[in-house]
Parts: sequence; structure tokens; C-alpha cells
Amino acid sequence: MATFFQSVRQGFGRGGNNKSNNPPKSPAQSSTPQHQATMSNSPSISSSLSVETQANDPEGPKYFFQEKYAPLNVRGNFLTLCACPKNVELGEWLAHQIVEQYRLLHGMLQVIQEVNSVTGLPICNENTCPTMSAGRLTYTWLVDGRAAKISAPKFINRVEKWIVSKIHDPVMFPTEKVNGTPETSAIKEANGASTTPSDPANPDDWIGKSSGFPPTFYKDCQGIMKQMFRCYAHLYHAHWLNPFWHINKHDVLNMCFVHFVTVSKYYGLVSDKEMEPMQPLIELFIKQQRVPPEALNGGHWAQQAAT
Ligand SMILES: [Zn+2]
Repeated sequence: MATFFQSVRQGFGRGGNNKSNNPPKSPAQSSTPQHQATMSNSPSISSSLSVETQANDPEGPKYFFQEKYAPLNVRGNFLTLCACPKNVELGEWLAHQIVEQYRLLHGMLQVIQEVNSVTGLPICNENTCPTMSAGRLTYTWLVDGRAAKISAPKFINRVEKWIVSKIHDPVMFPTEKVNGTPETSAIKEANGASTTPSDPANPDDWIGKSSGFPPTFYKDCQGIMKQMFRCYAHLYHAHWLNPFWHINKHDVLNMCFVHFVTVSKYYGLVSDKEMEPMQPLIELFIKQQRVPPEALNGGHWAQQAAT
């Protein structure tokens, strides 16, 4: 009986209606990368080259991987938002985290889905993004067992629908009362039987079991987070400059992404290999401890063992 998660889901509308497209007013235009950019690390490129040109060049510098372009609009430790409270079952907590991460990502995706009144097209459209790319990497979509290259807006639309359907799937994310007496996490911890992501010694136990989540729950969470990561990778590689930098929303994007990475690492939800396209920025966030050290090296389970 995922009562905690039920209360979370009640505040989550199908498809989301979070209108957060009011960008903060851009500060003085002199702070745009066009003016700040120095070409010191690429002497062969003419200094008159615009940032736009470089941004479209997969070989060009990635501004979002540079420390000076990676501010956040908040201070504080994301661990406090991500660590599972003692009185909440881990499955319920993960379900809550998934919904929260989707809410944040959806807000960022709405920024590139905004329709330009002149062209009548969204910022991310079939022409700008004919494939779901992140730098030189292209993500494909499985159609009848075959990997198909579809445009980024199509890919993102399908991912969003898929995630929303998962969140509203009563089997994967149950909110109905289930029979039996749920174990409390406190009892589990006392018995030393806390569930790890893969616990071969205890195949009859799984994350979320006591709250009525299915055995595949943790794997499903990983699948959802992987697709969310791909959306972030596209947001950065294809749209960091336009529109996020131009409308001064890159710091909000960073805030959402640091939060996402912290949760992913803390609960082992997205593999390091999958995260490769964003590795330089993730390393920067780790160096700055914006992704807290507790989220690394075993994260949740290491923290549990240590207390
Ligand atoms: Zn795009």
C-alpha cells in the first residue's frame, strides 16, 4: 500500500500542466558567451566565428562543460532532497523521486517545446533536430524490434508519454491497498535484511515489495531514469545555447540536472556508461561537490551500512 507515493501522485496531473515558461529577464547582454568567449584553446579557428556556429559543430567547444558557464540558481545540498527518510519505505521513496524527477524534466522540455510565433514551429523541431542526438551520439527508438532513428521531438514526445503511462500504471506504481501486513522499513533494518539493487542471496525480497510494488520495480525505475537522462543529454548538446543560455535559464537547467544526477548516482539508477555524453559536466559537479560525495561509491546502500 504505497500510501506515501499515493499522496505524491495525487499532485501529479497526467501529462503535466506545470507552466513554468517565464524565463528570468536576461542580464546585460554583455554576459553572453559571444562576448566572453575566447578562442585561446583553438587558435586555428577564426575569432570571428560565432558561438552558434560552434554550438552546431560536434567538434566545437561545449560551453556547458566549462566551469564558468555552469552556475546553479540555488545553494544547498541535494542529498537532503534525495536521501530516503527513515520512516518511508525505499520503494515508495523511489516512486516519489521518479515523479519529482519527471516533473523537473518536463518543465525543462517545455522550454524547447515552446512554439516560435514567427516560424510556427517549436524550438526543437524536425528541422533543427532530425535525430535524437547528444553530440555525436544518436539515440534510437525500437520499432517492432528494430532500432529506428526518429526526430528528437518525436523521441521526446514518446518518452514523455511512456513515462506518464508508467507512472499511472497501477501494476508498476500501485496505490491500491494490498493484502497482508506490510513490513516497516524499521523492522527490516533491524533484521539486517535491507534490500540492495541486486540481492542474489534474497531473491524473494525486492525494493518496494512491502509497499506492493512488483519485482521489476527497481529495474523499471532504472529504465525510466535512463530515458530521462537521454532527454537531458539532448537538452544540453542541442539546446544549451538556444534557448537556455539566451533566455538565461541555463542555471535552472543545471539545477535540475544536478538534482537528477544526485538521485541517479545515490540509488544506482543510471549507469556510468549511459552518462558518458555528459561526463565532463558531471565530473565538474562532483568536483564542486554539487553532486555530494555521499551520492557516490554505493550511495544509499553504503550510507545505510555506515549508520
Ligand atoms: Zn532538439
